[in-house]
Amino acid sequence: MAIKTIFLDRDGVINKEVNYLHKIDDFEFIDGIFDSCRLLQKLGYSFIVVTNQSGIERGLYKLRDYQILTKWMLQQFKKNNIKILDIFYCPHEPKSKCSCRKPKPGMFLEAENKHNIDMVNSWMIGDKECDIKAANLARIHQTILVRSGHKIEESSSNAKFIIDSINEATNIINK
Ligand SMILES: [Zn+2]
Repeated sequence: MAIKTIFLDRDGVINKEVNYLHKIDDFEFIDGIFDSCRLLQKLGYSFIVVTNQSGIERGLYKLRDYQILTKWMLQQFKKNNIKILDIFYCPHEPKSKCSCRKPKPGMFLEAENKHNIDMVNSWMIGDKECDIKAANLARIHQTILVRSGHKIEESSSNAKFIIDSINEATNIINK
């Protein structure tokens, strides 16, 4: 059976936005995220993280730094009884013209293919318009933009909902 999923951007959604974040010491979870994820998990959603990490190809940090941080982040979710099904990352710079960097839908399509995801009944939560565009291109139209990350242009956004943080998503995603 196809699974319904909540796709999460990382920086600005899961953790406070820090430019080219790559150290555990600089990683600060958004307040209340574990409670919110547990509620959403109870509704039967799985979680997949899709994150642009161009700092890798830009040489600002190493793939190894990203992997260490990711492993630690997953441990924190696990300690809080939340299962992250998978994480997809794009290490490329914008100029590389890869098919994975959001707003391209590559990471979503890869996830769909790997995990048999019910895209129509899945959600995207992001803090940038490129998150919404990428999701839409992958046939995910239930989209939420949060104000907890980058500054957003609310009037021109294509997101279905705009909220302060993931904590309010539990009011929207309740089926
Ligand atoms: Zn890429």
